[in-house]
Amino acid sequence: MNRDGARTSLWQANRPNYQPVGRWDKNGIYDVLIVGGGITGLTTALLLQEQGKKCLVAEAHTLGFGTTGGTTSHLNTLVDTTYPTLESDFGQEGARQVAQATGEAIALVERLVTQYQIDAGFSYQSAWLYAQDEKEVQELEEIYEASRRAGLEVQAAGAIPVPIPFQKAYRFAGQGQIHASQYLLGLAAAFEKAGGVIVQQCLVQGTSHHDPIVATTSQGEIRARKLVYATHQPPGVSIFNFRLAPYRSYAAAFTLKDEKYPTGLAYDMKDPYNYFRTQESDGVRYVIAGGFDHKTGHEDNTDHIFTELEAYQRTYFNVDQMAYRWSSQYYEPVDGLPYIGAYPGLEGTFVATGYSGNGITYGTVAGQLLSNLLMGQDSPYADLFSPARIKPVASFANFIKENADVASVFIGKRFSYEKITELAELAPGEAKTVKWEGTPIALYKEENGKVYALDPVCPHAKCIVHWNGAEKSWDCPCHGARYGCDGSLLTGPARRGLTVLEWEKLPI
Ligand SMILES: Cc1cc2nc3c(=O)[nH]c(=O)nc-3n(C[C@H](O)[C@H](O)[C@H](O)COP(=O)(O)OP(=O)(O)OC[C@H]3O[C@@H](n4cnc5c(N)ncnc54)[C@H](O)[C@@H]3O)c2cc1C
Repeated sequence: MNRDGARTSLWQANRPNYQPVGRWDKNGIYDVLIVGGGITGLTTALLLQEQGKKCLVAEAHTLGFGTTGGTTSHLNTLVDTTYPTLESDFGQEGARQVAQATGEAIALVERLVTQYQIDAGFSYQSAWLYAQDEKEVQELEEIYEASRRAGLEVQAAGAIPVPIPFQKAYRFAGQGQIHASQYLLGLAAAFEKAGGVIVQQCLVQGTSHHDPIVATTSQGEIRARKLVYATHQPPGVSIFNFRLAPYRSYAAAFTLKDEKYPTGLAYDMKDPYNYFRTQESDGVRYVIAGGFDHKTGHEDNTDHIFTELEAYQRTYFNVDQMAYRWSSQYYEPVDGLPYIGAYPGLEGTFVATGYSGNGITYGTVAGQLLSNLLMGQDSPYADLFSPARIKPVASFANFIKENADVASVFIGKRFSYEKITELAELAPGEAKTVKWEGTPIALYKEENGKVYALDPVCPHAKCIVHWNGAEKSWDCPCHGARYGCDGSLLTGPARRGLTVLEWEKLPI
């Protein structure tokens, strides 16, 4: 399985890319075009296809290429936005609805793995939240009270499933876990068996919003009555750019020399928090641990974060082998809840985004909610998650204008290979953003010595990209678009890659 980063996640190992069997009817009009082949897209597609809709999933790369391939795959009603915060921002009823919607999502995962016999190791689990100092204890008590009011089953706990010191802990029942790629590929197979169509390597580049909607893609046009953006963040410049902040998060899967594998899910109360669970994959047990989050494009040495992550695990666990270490991206919504529903201002178009670190659960919530909306059915959660709670931001036009200058400076410059190598003495595997006559250039030297020179101006909103050494990508610190070291588009919201400076062909 391919993914949007250079490192291999546990979910990719020994998993070939999905081979679709269905055939795209290029002359037909689909009921629903679902853009994106992650947990959101596949869950939505399967639920719609089950109810008789004719659906097509268009995936820019291969299934699981996005964050679903880089997740840690806990299933939670104990979500990242704490219940006291949910109560204060969305009321007690809003907090209760979050608990109910996420609980129903875990039950939906259980229904789908059972009905379609998806061998993905789904299990219900308890989760332990533990405090390590007085301040955290106080916060934990508040979380306990608000979680109970929201309807979660919570009890004080005298022990936690990880060998880490703590002062106070609570156990939350009704959480879960699943093998991310086995589940995703199982959903895809069930969807195709129900008559759905999956088209991979199919980047949706633009859409016309008439009836039918016509999507322009890298493989030709797709016609559909409705469209769902299940792309994690919708492509292009949109109001969502002001409602979502991109974050990178780090994970590791390791084996132990002893038998102290966690028997449940465990979370500390740091910000960012550390978390742990056990996952079996291909007959081997691993501890999955994660944390060390930071805003995308705001960290100079992302490789070093893995050193810290590993050191933290070795402090408490008797680590045998650090088998996998990977990082991935999530989007923090400005008000703490995802945006799921009709895309404001775009007729016939739906969206699901802004899941924080809970998108396996919220992606399933989205599948249920979007399929309800598209089938014309009521959902008790439609208002709570509605993207229409977004207000347009007046300053956007200024933002674009200011940043457009960066691009105009760049146009017209000419480079030679000698100039570029002179600009930066690069070691193999190294990248740099250098300036030549005031103009930035993004440079990367492959291990074999080949140098890539790119315009570092992100084509989405004209910010300057930042090198992510851990995943060998250029990441945009503004809205999270990401590019390969050759400039190719990895993840939106940009719609195209970075401009490659073809120095050999340019006049010097
Ligand atoms: C390190 C880490 C750990 C996490 N752990 C958990 C966890 O334990 N539990 C949990 O619930 N959540 C977790 N999350 C969050 C969760 O994994 C994600 O929110 C979720 O996987 C997002 O799924 P998605 O389908 O919406 O998006 P993605 O999986 O990103 O899929 C979107 C797909 O759309 C495709 N695409 C994008 N643009 C286009 C286009 N224009 N045309 C065609 N295709 C396009 C992409 O290639 C991609 O495959 C974690 C996140 C991180 C970063």
